[in-house]
Amino acid sequence: MSTKTFRLRIRRSLADQNLQIALDGNALRRTVGRLNAFSSVPDYQERRRRAHAIKADVIAHLDQYLSRFIAQVTRNGIRVHRAADAKEAIHIFLEIAREHDARLVAKSKSMVSEEINFNHALEPAGLQVVETDLGEYIVQLRGERPSHILTPAVHLTRAQVGQLFHDKLGIPYTEDIPEMVATARRVLRQVFLTADIGVSGANFGVAETGTLCLVTNEGNGRMVTTLPPVHVALMGIERLVPTMDDLALFLSLLPRSGTGQKLSAYTSLINSPKRFEDLDGPQERHLILIDNGRSAMRNSPLVEALSCIRCGACLNACPVFREIGGHAYIGQDGSIAPYPGPIGAIVSPGLFGCENYGQLAQASSLCGACQEACPVDINLPELLLRVRAGESADEQKSLEGLGVPALLKLGLQGFQLAARSPFLFSVGERLGGLLSHSYSPRKKYMRLPAWTGWGYSKDFPRFETSPFRSRWKKMEQAINTEAQVCRPPKNPAEYIAPPVPSLAARFSDELAGIGGQVYRLPEKEVKARLAKLLQERGIERVAVDDIGEEYVTGMETVRVPDPTVWAGVTGALLGIAESGSLLLVGGEGRPLTASLLPDIHIAILRASDLVPDLAQALARPEIRPASAAVIITGPSRTGDIEMTLSIGVHGPKEVHVFLID
Ligand code: SF4
Repeated sequence: MSTKTFRLRIRRSLADQNLQIALDGNALRRTVGRLNAFSSVPDYQERRRRAHAIKADVIAHLDQYLSRFIAQVTRNGIRVHRAADAKEAIHIFLEIAREHDARLVAKSKSMVSEEINFNHALEPAGLQVVETDLGEYIVQLRGERPSHILTPAVHLTRAQVGQLFHDKLGIPYTEDIPEMVATARRVLRQVFLTADIGVSGANFGVAETGTLCLVTNEGNGRMVTTLPPVHVALMGIERLVPTMDDLALFLSLLPRSGTGQKLSAYTSLINSPKRFEDLDGPQERHLILIDNGRSAMRNSPLVEALSCIRCGACLNACPVFREIGGHAYIGQDGSIAPYPGPIGAIVSPGLFGCENYGQLAQASSLCGACQEACPVDINLPELLLRVRAGESADEQKSLEGLGVPALLKLGLQGFQLAARSPFLFSVGERLGGLLSHSYSPRKKYMRLPAWTGWGYSKDFPRFETSPFRSRWKKMEQAINTEAQVCRPPKNPAEYIAPPVPSLAARFSDELAGIGGQVYRLPEKEVKARLAKLLQERGIERVAVDDIGEEYVTGMETVRVPDPTVWAGVTGALLGIAESGSLLLVGGEGRPLTASLLPDIHIAILRASDLVPDLAQALARPEIRPASAAVIITGPSRTGDIEMTLSIGVHGPKEVHVFLID
């Protein structure tokens, strides 16, 4: 195998019509979604600068943060294991499985598990691992690797998934996405209920509290961490944040960058296994902290890539990924890289060696779109150049050692000279502009000989005739003129501030915007309105917590997990106005499964318990002592098939909030 195979794979991807349609749909929706989501965050640049600084500090002092985190997690009752590499991680997991005589493993999406080849490694031991994220389930049925770190089945059309479900699950062929989602819900519900072990990743670990944070949209993350008797979390050692405050910052960036949401449907905060007084949750929790090349990468020129929070935004922004998709990122040995896209072209060689995966960095135009999209402001183009220059954890080479041709070396030295002198650079720009215009007048692109590679899938734009600095100055002038027109009046008395909606109004609007339903009513009307809603749905038994029990009348109630109950009525500790979310904290009299297993979740919330934002919610002291808490933002959803939004893949299909004014 060689780089030739890589090129062939790229050509095959470019010629694949289905893939091109699927990738175009994904890129457009994700990019627009991200921009819309950040329009409500005016201090976005400041946040990403802070995020960058926090992650840089964590990586620089990883040993201290890790020992603090491990001490807290252990104190909380979670058993911590450390794995130096994939082999050790698998060995630890098999030991846990053996202890519990486990056969069936329900797994939610985790990139680190892809990295250690988790599913295949467990097969010889007789363990059946079932992926429960819809996209992962689809690629597992096809025997493939995910093609995107967030949307694993992004390369498939609905027709392909319809055919797959027909072939593998025996249902009649359909292209109806809700029907396919309903099938997956039915099949996977059985897996959640009968699995011996639930396996998840972890988006963040909070060093201060030992909390594991898991972000999902479908509800499978909640299922695998709540229903099976044993939960095992797999986590890369770099996924730490120092405090809950920092977690709030990262949670304000991750879902917006990844899926264009203010918050994902479920943000789980896991502190400990089931406590004596809890009505649900696993008896035992384990955390496997995986190094697998990270320590070596920390001491390499690629260290900055360890700040990645795996949001996938750089993949969606990258003009190369948008054309070739994740399966085209292959190593010299022909294996699909565990991490694709711009970040994958750095992390894959960084963790697993430049020799095999160094070629991935060639799949970049170095346009900088990846860095612009990155919520942690990682300098991806610079890191890609480092990989191209052979600088990684396993080998460090200079241009000398790379055998760069003499002519190219001369050209690069000339460019270096010009780039250091503004005068020489502008002369060079003017010359380039004049030459390109006389070479192909009146054309937007230059025609170059075929051997250069230009013109095959991308054209070479003509040089500008004026230097960059003068164009930049003109643009700056235009911005200043516009800013003067929009500048607020000097006298503050003249300024009329836009009306600020009340927290209740904002909460209601936000929740309605993501498919939830809010009823604002006085307390005395709640019981009657609730009874009417349950009656309309033909419901006779309800799952409840202590608060729900107070309001449900004339109906049988249950408190232990029961998959035959169709509605759950619970209280909520608070509501978050900026995202229309509910915070539920587990504990005595508060089973979290009441808001997870039934098709309908009804929450009782007092308007006085509304807070403006996530940071205030995460600061609440009730979270820390609880074994688990969850932030629920609308009904369960997925966009895994052709990016089409489908409601209710694993969790409730409806979320109703009775907001007591
Ligand atoms: S590099 Fe940045 S944009 Fe890309 S996945 Fe990581 S955090 Fe997201």
